[in-house]
Amino acid sequence: MTTDPALATLQQLDARHHLHPFNDNAALARKGTRILVRGEGCHVWDAHGQRLLDAFAGLWCVNVGYGRRELGEAAARQMDTLAYYNSFFACTTEPTVRLAAKLAELAPGDLNHAFFTNSGSEANDTILRMVRHFWAVQDRPQKNIVIGRRNGYHGSTVAGASLGGMAVMHRQGGLPIPDIHHIDPPFWFADGGDLDPDAYGLLAARRLEQKILELGPERVAAFIGEPIMGAIGVWIPPRTYWPEVERICRAYDVLLIADEVICGFGRTGEWFGQQYFGFQADIMPIAKGLSSGYIPIGAVMFNDRVAGVLKERGGELAHGYTYSGHPVCAAVALENIRLLQEEGIVERARREIAPYLAERWAQLGEHPLVGEARIAGLVGALELVPDKRVRRGFPEPGKVGTLCRDLALEEGLILRATYDAMLLSPPLVIGRAEVDELFEKAWRALDRTARAIGHASAA
Ligand SMILES: *Cc1c(COP(=O)(O)O)cnc(C)c1O
Repeated sequence: MTTDPALATLQQLDARHHLHPFNDNAALARKGTRILVRGEGCHVWDAHGQRLLDAFAGLWCVNVGYGRRELGEAAARQMDTLAYYNSFFACTTEPTVRLAAKLAELAPGDLNHAFFTNSGSEANDTILRMVRHFWAVQDRPQKNIVIGRRNGYHGSTVAGASLGGMAVMHRQGGLPIPDIHHIDPPFWFADGGDLDPDAYGLLAARRLEQKILELGPERVAAFIGEPIMGAIGVWIPPRTYWPEVERICRAYDVLLIADEVICGFGRTGEWFGQQYFGFQADIMPIAKGLSSGYIPIGAVMFNDRVAGVLKERGGELAHGYTYSGHPVCAAVALENIRLLQEEGIVERARREIAPYLAERWAQLGEHPLVGEARIAGLVGALELVPDKRVRRGFPEPGKVGTLCRDLALEEGLILRATYDAMLLSPPLVIGRAEVDELFEKAWRALDRTARAIGHASAA
């Protein structure tokens, strides 16, 4: 808790009245919440006036960086003109239509049809219902199982958390719901054994084939995966993984869902993770970078085949949200995409920043505390380990990562920790000088962590 009286009041009110998502709320109430007040570019300021380099882009989402007035102006213009109208009653609004068309133009392959939601979780709720409906209206109601992956993350609603494979989430609320199965994810660092990553990638993909055969292809509606598994610790699959998953889905007529909520809109240096890995999905949920986090909006993109069946044979779609295609959110998303395109933000991230960031990230990988420094474009992780020579984590996962995260904050750097992986996902507009700032602060945080835990290297 702070000594500043105004801030102390806010923290007390927060502790008394606000339940924080993904937090131990009792512990947080004792410690006092950090209150953020301002953002500019890649930096945010907290209520103490401390300036922090936000190397996590809020929550994987502030792709264009903080403080872009154009986005607020787009929202204000639309609110003044028409603050709200729905898309239910055979109606819609201009920004909604323009955004759908824009997304069809940007999305890979024939993902040409948008259904709008308010978040990534809602997008995955929509998907679960639509893939089952897709098969049901083709007289195959028994083809209703969706396969996800252990430790996958697809959001926090009932469907999202069920499709995801987080055991801690499943324990709260009786999840997963029926007819959702999970296979082991591709994580070479912990699971690859003596295989080289490419051979391991094929092996990990073939777990999907085994599961489909075990359940029976006539029962399996779809497979869902994040191109890069974000929340669990930026697990980047080997290059061989996704093309093999795609081949398997085609062979058994299983719909392929690429959850692009993190990878979409430039995170890997490509517009979408599918382009980074070279595969094509049938369905793609998006959110986060769609509006750079300035306003809540998500969507599901469907390909021609799926949308065709839903339109021609699906009858009335008994599904929708009051704010599906909200005109203000659509206007902000359109403006965000305009910035990404016209200022060449994605292009520049791929060509100029990603290579430099990869170089500096690899240097952090030389720190004695780091067992692996992995990165794909502008998303990465440092895996902290007791012994650099062995691909094995700490006996009590999470303690060292949390400590390192807190020390990084003291150094003025925001990195997220998942267990003992330090996660990186900066705004795409990060510059070279800020990459250097990131490197220096992260190195100091690693040094201080190593000393604090009496790491073998610090002796
Ligand atoms: C964040 C996330 C979601 C959930 O999105 P929300 O907007 O938080 O509901 C779904 N999938 C992935 C891959 C995510 O990272």
